Amino acid sequence: MSGLRHVTSINDLDNAEIEQVFALADKYLKELGETMERTERTRAGANLTTQRIAKSGRMGTGSILATLFYEPSTRTRLSFESAMLRLGGRTITSADPATSSAAKGESLADTVRVVSSYADAIVIRHPRDGAAKLAAQYASIPVINGGDGAHEHPTQTLCDLFTLRRHNKKLKNLSVAVSGDLRGSRTIHSFVYALARFGAAIRLMPGGKGMELPAHVDWRLRNEFKCVPLPKAKYAEDDAVDALYVTAERPHQLSLIADASSNYKLKKAVDAVYVTRFQKERWSEGARDYMKVDSKFLQNSRYKNTSVMHPLPRVGELDIALDHDTRAAYFQQAAYGVPIRMALIAEVLGLEKNFALAQFKTGFRHGDYELYERPPGDSGIRCRNPNCIVHDPYEGPYAANKFLYVPAEAPRLRCYYCETDIVDFLIAHRRRGHYDSKLSRRRPVGDFRDVVFFADEEAAETAGFSKGQPRRAAGK
Ligand SMILES: [Zn+2]
Repeated sequence: MSGLRHVTSINDLDNAEIEQVFALADKYLKELGETMERTERTRAGANLTTQRIAKSGRMGTGSILATLFYEPSTRTRLSFESAMLRLGGRTITSADPATSSAAKGESLADTVRVVSSYADAIVIRHPRDGAAKLAAQYASIPVINGGDGAHEHPTQTLCDLFTLRRHNKKLKNLSVAVSGDLRGSRTIHSFVYALARFGAAIRLMPGGKGMELPAHVDWRLRNEFKCVPLPKAKYAEDDAVDALYVTAERPHQLSLIADASSNYKLKKAVDAVYVTRFQKERWSEGARDYMKVDSKFLQNSRYKNTSVMHPLPRVGELDIALDHDTRAAYFQQAAYGVPIRMALIAEVLGLEKNFALAQFKTGFRHGDYELYERPPGDSGIRCRNPNCIVHDPYEGPYAANKFLYVPAEAPRLRCYYCETDIVDFLIAHRRRGHYDSKLSRRRPVGDFRDVVFFADEEAAETAGFSKGQPRRAAGK
């Protein structure tokens, strides 16, 4: 393989590539669906089941998918494994972190380097934000993120979008309400980016106090995904709605929306309500007051034809009485997990001639932002997200000091791994040996290799830089 293609974030795929994954998933779903129907009709059992796997399975023969799960998961792992088997490939798994090499202290970086010679692609699930990006840095085979901390869960998002697209016959300009633990749910973070990219109107309904969207996700929605917030006082239909965004499908619409945001015509009908559970493992307190979606909630006419979606598992926030409601879409959403993951695996492995992702030397499409990169252990600012993979005692030594420089009115340093932004930092210049005394509002002049970013003056001084005054001896 000359190049690679990793999928650690939904934003590693562009819109055309997402549509391409869906086109292939449609094809697989048709194959699976047809044979499932046949099984149903004849009730013949075992023979047909074997036939079903064999039917969709020729092209993956000989390929191996490794599933590395450092966090418990049943559905995601099983759906990846089922997808690989249906493609005709095989899977190897490390699903019990307590008895695996991780428990013995082996780093993820070393594990993926070893597993790269055992398999053709890796799926990773990890409790730390940014773990998939670290794995991709060391793997020599494609890495797919199966959920990393509170960061992202891109394949879940693909299932979610695919469900929306099948239910609404399109993906563009939908109106979607997103409810639950908007802070702790990685699924939601991937999902809202994708919604914005397809021009959706988004209603945010936090499940409880403090469960609003994290500030850096909100900033990205507004500044990078062209979301325009609508005034809540005018547009929020009830107290459950914390924020509303509309997005422009085409750039020229953006200024029209922004200018007229107080007179914007918001479509009344909500095409989908996306419900998520309280992510108790990401909060210190075990239980909280949490909103519930039930038939009473859905009584309002704007939910008359809505699709009720949930990434599952549910733990009480979604009334089981809705299971027989025609609006319930969540089990179908889960079923789409297999054809979607088949499609993604086939594309990263290049199994289908007409459906392949472009491959790149580093495994990723080049971003718009400059990369600031230092060897692991180098001085300078570190990510401020305590759950970031760079702060893991085993993995930290393998994580380079890496940030994307995001130019903005107040420039941001975005952690390369977990994508959390830092807005207050100091810039030091190696050759001149000094640091700028003020927070910089401008891009540092010259080569990024000459620049070191620091969290504060003390850190810069400790590293041997002095304030403002150029001096001859270069600090480090
Ligand atoms: Zn980070």
